[in-house]
Amino acid sequence: MSESRGGDGELHGGRKIGRDRPVHGSRARVAQSSVAGRNSRGASEPLPVVRGIDVGFARASAQVLKEKPMVCVCGKERGPGDRLPKGWKRSGESVYCADCWRRMRILRAISMPVAEIMDGTWEEFRASVREMWAATTQCSNWMMTQLYARDVRRNGELKLPPMAPVYLYPEARARFPQLPSQSVSALDQMVQAKYRAARYQVIWTCAASLPTFRYPTPFSSPNQTWTLRIEDERPVVSARVGDRRWSLRLKSGPRYRRQLTAVRKIADGSADRGSLDLYEQKIDGKPAVMCKMVAWLPRRERPSKLEGALSVWSTAESLLVAVKEDGNVLWTYHADQLRRWSAEHREQLQRWADDARFERRPMASFTARREAAARKYRNRMNSAVREIAGSLAGYAARRKFAMVRYDDRDTSFCPGFPWSALRERIGLKLDEIGIEFDSGSGGVPRDS
Ligand SMILES: [Zn+2]
Repeated sequence: MSESRGGDGELHGGRKIGRDRPVHGSRARVAQSSVAGRNSRGASEPLPVVRGIDVGFARASAQVLKEKPMVCVCGKERGPGDRLPKGWKRSGESVYCADCWRRMRILRAISMPVAEIMDGTWEEFRASVREMWAATTQCSNWMMTQLYARDVRRNGELKLPPMAPVYLYPEARARFPQLPSQSVSALDQMVQAKYRAARYQVIWTCAASLPTFRYPTPFSSPNQTWTLRIEDERPVVSARVGDRRWSLRLKSGPRYRRQLTAVRKIADGSADRGSLDLYEQKIDGKPAVMCKMVAWLPRRERPSKLEGALSVWSTAESLLVAVKEDGNVLWTYHADQLRRWSAEHREQLQRWADDARFERRPMASFTARREAAARKYRNRMNSAVREIAGSLAGYAARRKFAMVRYDDRDTSFCPGFPWSALRERIGLKLDEIGIEFDSGSGGVPRDS
């Protein structure tokens, strides 16, 4: 074992080349052979081949040039191969299998507005970021139409053939030189995933049209291209936008308390960075540049001595009821205000619809009022979702339940309520504190 460990220095060197700059044929082969030449393993072991050489930065950054089997900290082995298996992650010098990684880390997206440009003016920065949004939008649409144009057409066949691999990266780079190479490869993956998801409906059943992207499509930078530091208790992101790097201070303050906790973990290295997206969103009516950071945060220690299951379900009389395994009702959450808000909102929309029919022309002020009302309603429902999920998870944690069984099939109490958002949020909160969440519709011992 000590032998293969001795080779780590070289392996590291070889890997660095793959990660930090584009790998082209000759360079990669030189790197490969120099590593192979110093390989201390027995000659009987076949030397792995570096595949996908001429694919430019995109593939090279996604894969790690490996010369030995990958071993997780738990001992699980995969490989040898030239890329990490699906779900496996690298953090620092260690490699983790999908299971170990998910046990340790939790994936979170943290969004905060940019408050200040530290090394330039807002005008300069806005011009740069707008150019990136425009190029990202165009490039995404170009990629989408290319995938469609190069795909099969239905010709009386019954079954949709699998999609042939399409590699758009080099042409996209040539067409959109203003976009950083890593952003183009990230975009390539995102658009391909979106196309694949829509493909059957678009080219086979013709039930959907080709997805399109509208300005401003978020400008995305992958993990290795941005950093975050804390300066005077405030988060500062450094990222490349346009032709240079920018230091962007993010808004802090009490409103962003939760985000700041997560962001500190990115800064001190206890969380691993994912991608960074710059996008536009209205905050208090004004367009703001938002910074969305994806990070793998360390999971909190699973509390000890958890036992039993808490069953929570929706009923016709109240939003949620919690029942213990012995059938005793622990609490009932009526949430009459949600039903009232929902009814008021529905009624208001109906009144406006009636008026619009009478007036027979779109009224600008009227549209604005309707949009404002919709926003208010959405905000109310979103904060209700957060509060309910937080309370439920807090309750389950205090009572040390090992599991929550959840059933929201009965939506008759408040049909307009964002039930799926609530379910998702509860799952997220429970996941954070290490309590199992079973939201499968079967198997809940529900009384009639
Ligand atoms: Zn493992």
